[in-house]
Amino acid sequence: MSREWRIGLGYDLHRLAAGRKLLLGGVPVSFELGLVGHSDADVVLHAVTDAVLGAAGLPDIGEQFPDTDPAWKDADSRKLFELAMVRVERQGFEVSNIDIIIHAERPKLSAYKRLIAESVARLAGCMPSHVNVKAKTNEGLGPVGEGLAIACTAAAMLVMRPSA
Ligand code: MG
Repeated sequence: MSREWRIGLGYDLHRLAAGRKLLLGGVPVSFELGLVGHSDADVVLHAVTDAVLGAAGLPDIGEQFPDTDPAWKDADSRKLFELAMVRVERQGFEVSNIDIIIHAERPKLSAYKRLIAESVARLAGCMPSHVNVKAKTNEGLGPVGEGLAIACTAAAMLVMRPSA
């Protein structure tokens, strides 16, 4: 019997500001600025969460964890992703692989790509080799290029568990 496969796409952007921690994929990144948001503003986990939710046909992160809800103020995005994964797994799916592009003019992220992949894989319940992280600048253009924001695009492939 053939297994059911689903693909999902996620995107997010947060503003950079002083006095905030920079978290990308659950990994603290050393930088003089951090991302601003109602939660911890982990732009990578938000994009990945929307990718898996989209693939499973579930409501998006903004619907499930509204930024008007005080329950999610300063929320740990790892927790949001874990809650989303519980819902995805309830539908019978598991993560096959995740592909991530981080759009950031600064800081340079080459030293963090592997750590971010390992962190996302741990949360997604898949092998680190099944999470790919790419970092791109925006050639100095737009809010990302001007260093005002960091954005992330993520794709997630889900597969129906054999037992489901
Ligand atoms: Mg967000």
